Amino acid sequence: MTAGQTSTSTADYDAIVIGAGFAGLYALHKLRDQMGLRVRVFEAGDDLGGTWYWNRYPGARCDIESIHYSYSFSAELEQEWEWSEKYASQPEILAYLNHVADRFNLRDDIEFATRITSAVWNDDRGLWQVGSGDGSVSTGRYLISGAGNLSVPKNPEFDGIDTFVGEVYLTGKWPHEGVDFTGKRVAVIGTGSSGIQAITEIGKQAGHLTVFQRTPNYATPLGNAPSDPVRVGQVKANYPAVRDVARSSFIGVPYDQAHPSALGVSPETRRRIFDECWDEGGFRFFIDTFQDVLFDKAANDTVSNYVRERIRERVSDPVVAEKLSPTNHPYGTKRPPFETNYYETYNRDNVRLIDVASSPITAVTENGVRTAEGDYDFDVIVLATGFDAMTGPLLDMGIVGRDGRKLSDKWVDGPHTYLGLTIHGFPNLFLITGPQSPSVLYNMPLAIEDHVDFVADAIDHLRRNGLDTMEPTLDAETKWVDHANELAQATLLPGTDSWWMGANIPGKPRVCLVYLGGAPAYREICADVVDKGYEGFTLSCEGVARQLTPTQA
Ligand code: NAP
Repeated sequence: MTAGQTSTSTADYDAIVIGAGFAGLYALHKLRDQMGLRVRVFEAGDDLGGTWYWNRYPGARCDIESIHYSYSFSAELEQEWEWSEKYASQPEILAYLNHVADRFNLRDDIEFATRITSAVWNDDRGLWQVGSGDGSVSTGRYLISGAGNLSVPKNPEFDGIDTFVGEVYLTGKWPHEGVDFTGKRVAVIGTGSSGIQAITEIGKQAGHLTVFQRTPNYATPLGNAPSDPVRVGQVKANYPAVRDVARSSFIGVPYDQAHPSALGVSPETRRRIFDECWDEGGFRFFIDTFQDVLFDKAANDTVSNYVRERIRERVSDPVVAEKLSPTNHPYGTKRPPFETNYYETYNRDNVRLIDVASSPITAVTENGVRTAEGDYDFDVIVLATGFDAMTGPLLDMGIVGRDGRKLSDKWVDGPHTYLGLTIHGFPNLFLITGPQSPSVLYNMPLAIEDHVDFVADAIDHLRRNGLDTMEPTLDAETKWVDHANELAQATLLPGTDSWWMGANIPGKPRVCLVYLGGAPAYREICADVVDKGYEGFTLSCEGVARQLTPTQA
């Protein structure tokens, strides 16, 4: 075989992509249209959109500004699309993704209603055999997971849920026809980002709403508004520079850098900075205040106290206000939710709050919810109880690597990846925004583009050098896992039960699932790996390893 040729002709496809959300759509466009690869996308849903296809609950919207939470790969797309609001609602984001699919003619290469149930590496043939629920099998040289980070809803944990005679809905699998809550007695269980968005809307419509809260959250204002044409015009006139600044910022939005220390300024200055970020809304309050709030408990106390004070100002009943004020974890150690009139919802006559930390839910009965303190009857129960995040979607696919090793065995004590993108023992498998990459702490469309571009460049590199397989070394993987864990241990995050730590799923290993070094540092590391000839990877052709020197890379 000569350079530039590979044995991909033996596979049905050069690349198989799983999922047709933001990641899968861009991967298809990049690999098919820019690289000329034969690509097939398999999508479990009946249509495209991923997260934005499934999460149709009332109030669902993004919490990164839409001019930033959007693809950057096409200047024409950036210019032509108009967001009606600063933070787009779910229907508008889904419309955007459909526009992208139409504009780049993506639908023809997506197989809908096809859930991948097995993905097995065939070492003899050097390809992945990918099986779906209907028994069909396809083969591909490269397997790219765009299955998402929050796409497997947590199984309901309540005994008797099947006996409930009313309606039960999961926020993460919301019915397409919508739900009419008018005049109904509704329960919402869960007060994370999904619950907070849904509660605010359902409270306006339901006859009566009961919220079951186990852990109060530090929700801060989203600051949504209609799109400002002047600001949008400024961004559109400078989009490449705006994206550059975004990618140079910790979470991939072009916000200011936080001030060094909450304890290093006077109380007046601290208050002013908190007030300014609070008023600006969204992630500014999380990342634009002080750099030490996630590292130093005393610094964190200043922001936690501030949020509690602001909650108390907005809730009329002091007992309810106290229940809504988090005290068992520091601000920001759970993923911060953002809200619009969430706290005012509890001032409504038709809304009540039940604390299930002190009196847990013991069962769901035929008629409603049972806690240690009594029974509550409902017509509808909404489960906003979260997801088996990050690792759940990957472990759900029956992935088996070299020598028959199951991913579920390899990850029995938590994820082991190199760069959050690849896994030793699982050649040519790429995880778009996988665990131990910045992923959910990086503006998702940009995180996805960075990863897809890395994968595309890697495949291109292999092909140009007559190679067909890449796999990280065990040593590189071990060092990456240690590095990711060390970063996490330096923060306050490991002390809190959160889905970031895998602590929301009984029995799940408690390990930080997110790379906490920030997008800019992570991007530098990835660029350095490439510059050094894919350092940490073994590159081979038909099983014969060949490490290129940096000058050949
Ligand atoms: P989540 O943050 O994990 O929240 C789940 C909620 O359910 C928590 O309040 C949890 O309480 C509660 N819960 C779970 N099991 C329970 C049980 N057995 N009994 C009582 N309460 C229980 O899930 P989510 O709200 O779906 O959000 C997940 C992530 O999705 C977010 O953090 C965010 O990254 C993303 N998201 C983003 C947006 C957006 O605006 N862009 C919107 C929605 C979601 P505990 O805290 O006590 O466990």
